[in-house]
Amino acid sequence: MIALHDKTTRDKHLDAQIVGRFAPSPTGPLHFGTLIAAVGSYLLAKQFYGRWLLRIEDLDPPRVVSGAADAMLILLEQLGFTWDGEITYQSDRFERYREIVEQLHRSDLVFPCNCTRKEILASAPHPGEEGPVYPGTCRDGTKGNRIECAMRLRVTDKIIRFNDGILGLQQQSLNKDVGDFVLHRVDGLFAYQLAVVVDDIDAGVNQVVRGADLLMSTPRQIFLYESLDVDCPKYYHLPLAYGDNGKKLSKRNGDFGLISRENGANMLWRALAFLGQEPPLELFDLPPAEILLWGVENFKVDAVPTCNRPIDF
Ligand code: GLU
Repeated sequence: MIALHDKTTRDKHLDAQIVGRFAPSPTGPLHFGTLIAAVGSYLLAKQFYGRWLLRIEDLDPPRVVSGAADAMLILLEQLGFTWDGEITYQSDRFERYREIVEQLHRSDLVFPCNCTRKEILASAPHPGEEGPVYPGTCRDGTKGNRIECAMRLRVTDKIIRFNDGILGLQQQSLNKDVGDFVLHRVDGLFAYQLAVVVDDIDAGVNQVVRGADLLMSTPRQIFLYESLDVDCPKYYHLPLAYGDNGKKLSKRNGDFGLISRENGANMLWRALAFLGQEPPLELFDLPPAEILLWGVENFKVDAVPTCNRPIDF
């Protein structure tokens, strides 16, 4: 039998295993912005022998681009990423989301809301698309004759605080800044905030690493963990890359920053540099899997910059 003090560092990390994940939305091809989230989440999980799960966030069928998920998976494999376990697809999990909303409804933590305002926008994950602060109109019963309802989670006036692994202490008053938020949309689709929390809970995820564009969603997600009486994961929000048009790099920037088999190694190197890891120039000529391995062996979370920056390829 091995005494506790004889355990190797690796064994100790395996005991308290980190479970990280990468959760891209298949709304277009893999681009540099998404690659940063893949690299950051992979390195933070793998540097401590953690598991790295892959989830395709195809929650919103109209936004899903056919073939995008498969193309992303092929590229990730070519770049040397290896994920643990089966890939999860949110489109397979609608019954599970329904079950959780019903559970919260039974505890009176959610309520139906038939307001005609933009419930759909209010469930969007990205700032600027958050919609107005919900004024509590249907808290004590729906108004008017509209039959279709969204389901909203009742927030409290508690300030949500968390210590982000990169950005430090964060706080938000959900009551003042967001209001009761939508979990099940009036169009029948489930909200990002709900799906991401339920999926992470069911998969045992205890480390969430993603772009800082989701920072404003995190207090809502923490509140949902609290409502479900589950400990929330440790959060790390990575800086965002801006394109030459000064906007956040995304699928909307056309071909700028798109990843291909040909430029993959180069882009991986650049992602490490963007994350402040100072990869040596000699790495540039190596196959992607070796660049990624260098990242795992040398990753320093303290070196990750806290502010968003432009990128120029
Ligand atoms: N699917 C989201 C995106 O691609 C990421 C969600 C998350 O990491 O929580 O922006």
